[in-house]
Amino acid sequence: MEECNDNISFFKEGLRLDSRRPDELRPIKIEAGVLARADGSCYIEMGGNKVIAAVYGPREVHPRHLQEVTRAIVRYRYNMASFSVEERKRPGPDRRSHEISKVSREALEPVILTSYFPRSVIDVFVEVLQADAGTRTAGINAASVALADAGIPMKSMISACAAGKVGDTLVLDPMKEEDNFGQADMPVAMTPNGDITLLQMDGRFTKDEFSQALEMAMKGCREIYELQRKCLIGKYAQLETEPFLEVQVCD
Ligand code: ADP
Repeated sequence: MEECNDNISFFKEGLRLDSRRPDELRPIKIEAGVLARADGSCYIEMGGNKVIAAVYGPREVHPRHLQEVTRAIVRYRYNMASFSVEERKRPGPDRRSHEISKVSREALEPVILTSYFPRSVIDVFVEVLQADAGTRTAGINAASVALADAGIPMKSMISACAAGKVGDTLVLDPMKEEDNFGQADMPVAMTPNGDITLLQMDGRFTKDEFSQALEMAMKGCREIYELQRKCLIGKYAQLETEPFLEVQVCD
């Protein structure tokens, strides 16, 4: 986050650079079960972000010394493709991807019923194909749907989005320009009941602004939860109505 640049006008007639209202999410598209070889998967678009999540497991842990006797371990790998940003990103893990992997795993772990699968591992891979600020929240949303798609027992879904502050105004789901030149950015993840599993903050809010931004982000999470739910219901309703394959046996 850079210092607020007063020369940049973030609003025109009350609307943002991409014509959104301050409390409006970017357009969202979610599709479950997009990868044939993963146990569960999801593709999500949140504005300019394009992210894919793949879930494998529960399966045997390698290396074995990582096994937990009473529960499954959860591994989460967030990776940004080198072509996902304007200037080619150096491939491979870095400090940022390690941090995002850690906080994203911690955002999802509380709802996964890991005690059902002792000595095993649930692997979550998140690949950012195109980035436009908010990739960690897009990744968490996709991972949550992919976990459900893999049939992993969970107490609930997790939904995530950020609230920020630009030009002294609070905004929901900041895009790249707002994130780069704004005054604050606060990604949040929560259960549908409002239990928060991730809350990070970059920049500064007053106490009142913090409360309002949190309320705004929680409203965004509730909207995203409805879309995640619809996506999963849509996929399984479709499977139910699909006719059985007719197999012809040759003599
Ligand atoms: P998030 O994507 O979760 O908002 P950050 O706040 O760290 O995480 O990043 C904001 C945005 O900055 C990213 O979505 C991406 O568009 C851009 N960005 C992050 N890292 C890089 C990088 N190494 N090179 C170019 N752009 C980057």
